[in-house]
Amino acid sequence: MSIFIPHEYHKSIHDIDLLKLYENGKRLILTDLDNTLVSYAEPIPTEEIRAFKKKCDEIGLTLVIISNNNEKRVKRFADELGVPYLAKALKPLKRGYRKLTLGYSNDEVAIIGDQVLTDIVGGKRMGFYTILVDVIDYKTESWKTRFNRFFERLIIKKYNIKGDKHGRT
Ligand SMILES: [Mg+2]
Repeated sequence: MSIFIPHEYHKSIHDIDLLKLYENGKRLILTDLDNTLVSYAEPIPTEEIRAFKKKCDEIGLTLVIISNNNEKRVKRFADELGVPYLAKALKPLKRGYRKLTLGYSNDEVAIIGDQVLTDIVGGKRMGFYTILVDVIDYKTESWKTRFNRFFERLIIKKYNIKGDKHGRT
């Protein structure tokens, strides 16, 4: 239905049923970094995120980071975690997603992110399975992200995205 409505919403990435994603044919997970995996203030992966990556490996899901943040930030984090990445991805534009999903069909790809206007809209434009999670820490966000959040709040309210599951597509 709406390009703003994720297929799933969870409070945290740790609440996502990874096994179910695999059983539903997903093989590649494109995840956002900032405020999805860790807050902006966290330069390297936490133990929980390392465990999340390990679980993906065990299940057979390939984890890749796609971020609009700069090369230095994203490279350091992704290298520490041992996953491929794309920085300055310009989400929700399609170019970055296309680059990362070569060899996969759209229905094999799931995206995870904390922002409706970049992560969810970007994923839905590509025909991917989309998972929205709660922001880890609002306080460390840039003015640009805060600006987007203003519209995001209106959208989340209008579509009751974080409420009951009715109307989700
Ligand atoms: Mg984010």
